[in-house]
Amino acid sequence: MAGVNDVREEGSTADTASDTSGTSDTAAVRVADLGKRYDSDRQTVQALSGVDFAVDEGEFVCIVGPSGCGKTTLFRTIAGLESPTSGEVRLSGERVDGPGTDRGMVFQEYGLFPWRTVAENVAFGLEQQGLGGEERRARVREMLDLVGLTEFADAYPKELSGGMKQRVGIARALAVDPDILLMDEPFGSVDAQTRDMLHGELLDIWGATGKTVLFVTHDVEEAVTLADRVVVMAANPGQVREVVSVDLDRPRERTDAAFAEHVERIRALIGE
Ligand code: ADP
Ligand code: MG
Repeated sequence: MAGVNDVREEGSTADTASDTSGTSDTAAVRVADLGKRYDSDRQTVQALSGVDFAVDEGEFVCIVGPSGCGKTTLFRTIAGLESPTSGEVRLSGERVDGPGTDRGMVFQEYGLFPWRTVAENVAFGLEQQGLGGEERRARVREMLDLVGLTEFADAYPKELSGGMKQRVGIARALAVDPDILLMDEPFGSVDAQTRDMLHGELLDIWGATGKTVLFVTHDVEEAVTLADRVVVMAANPGQVREVVSVDLDRPRERTDAAFAEHVERIRALIGE
């Protein structure tokens, strides 16, 4: 497979050769000329128009842009919760036509079941898959260990801080071993200090699991902290303005000149 791509890229122009992904039909995530229009009696909103990019397997890609530029719509379309009005999303070459256990989702508003313990929340997807008994318990233990919540297995969501709830959300999403982790402003409602900690933990988990991560945020510094590449969106209609590579070693320091340059560049693209 790599050999085929090598041959094809040998004779290509500098422009396409520098585009490390997006050409392959079998990219982990391929968003192809995607459009989404919401029609109601009162108004029509073109939430996405001609959105086109690809994500490699194991890559960490952030999607940033101002409020209303269609980030959540894009996220929901990749998740299979919304259907496109034009174009399509393909995962490893397969067209998305609904939700699936190949994608784990984490939302800003946690979405935990308040009547279930931490362990029971993490077990949810495994129950849906019909995994039972000791196998399920072992998988839940493994996930709680991964997010550092072993001691809170029997606690209820209301007993947890925001950061801990979000760790449960991540453990639940990863329990069924999805190929792709989809996150929509997951740390939007935790304080700055907790957010920094969660960034470190998420990067550790990403390193340990090798998942492909798509992470939506309106916070440019958060995107530069986390991503291999940042898809910068613009509004009205929602579209991709540019895809920015972040070739900086991790962990990244906000005080580094190179970090600040990336933030400035992306802010300028957004028009902040
Ligand atoms: P973001 O997440 O970047 O803030 P959204 O995807 O939530 O953007 O919204 C993009 C645009 O689509 C906005 O103008 C929003 O009002 C509109 N929109 C989002 N969801 C719906 C919906 N279910 N029905 C109608 N319009 C919607
Ligand atoms: Mg949103």
